[in-house]
Amino acid sequence: MQNFRRVFAGCFFLLLVLYTCGMTSTLFGYDLSILTKVQLVPALLAGSFIVVCSVFVFTFLFGRWYCSFLCPLGIFQDILGRLKKGTSLKDSRSRTITRYCVLLLCVTSLFFGATFILLLVDPWSIFSRVATTFMLPPLTFFNNLIFELLHHFGLYGVAAKEYNFAGISVLFTAILSLLLLFYLLFFKGGRSWCNTICPVGTIFSLVGIKPVVRIRISRARCVHCGRCETECKAGVIDMKSGLIHSGDCVACFNCLPVCKDNAISYGFSKEEMLR
Ligand code: SF4
Ligand code: SF4
Repeated sequence: MQNFRRVFAGCFFLLLVLYTCGMTSTLFGYDLSILTKVQLVPALLAGSFIVVCSVFVFTFLFGRWYCSFLCPLGIFQDILGRLKKGTSLKDSRSRTITRYCVLLLCVTSLFFGATFILLLVDPWSIFSRVATTFMLPPLTFFNNLIFELLHHFGLYGVAAKEYNFAGISVLFTAILSLLLLFYLLFFKGGRSWCNTICPVGTIFSLVGIKPVVRIRISRARCVHCGRCETECKAGVIDMKSGLIHSGDCVACFNCLPVCKDNAISYGFSKEEMLR
């Protein structure tokens, strides 16, 4: 499952980057705008209740797959996280207060018709700003390089692109978001952003507080070696208290292969499990 997640998320992220940077709008004739339609906040603001309800029902049943398979900012953190492995901040009072304050701020501003606070912390908006600010110029360069090469051999399959640079406000907010993301990723570890700042993650942690199908640890088989706890990028497993904070699990499945005693599973179980 971990490998399937990595391949799926990698391809999804690559296509999203190419689409967002205007490098491709279709693939084999399929309209790639579908990739953006499953993003929660844009779907919510556009009133796509089918998408919103489907994501919520799926999260309630199977957990936060969205965070490891469909969220570009989540996948981006996983890619950067390979530079520095580490588990996330554990559940704590200050983390809980911060995440609910951010959510409350977003909801209150939305209630008064202002979307800018939500868009500042919405994962899709952050990803689009980062992509158009930092990924578009090098991609345009490579596109034009390929254009020149093909042109040299009399081939015209790729069109040259003009350089487009993001405006100053987009640049500023993209840099701010990246600084905060890097700080949380490299100094607090793992998916600290997801379980401290992201309003979508906070909503998911409530909807999927105990998903029907989830990560479970067998009491009988667990030898308390702590490998899964160290591997968990979301800081969900707490061996000392014997608790799994399922609402914060981002369904990355990294913990499954590290258990040599087959104590961890993803699914239903009638065995006695850690809570
Ligand atoms: S918590 Fe937010 S930023 Fe993190 S993966 Fe989920 S939706 Fe994306
Ligand atoms: S409990 Fe397992 S699947 Fe969930 S976030 Fe931690 S490592 Fe990933």
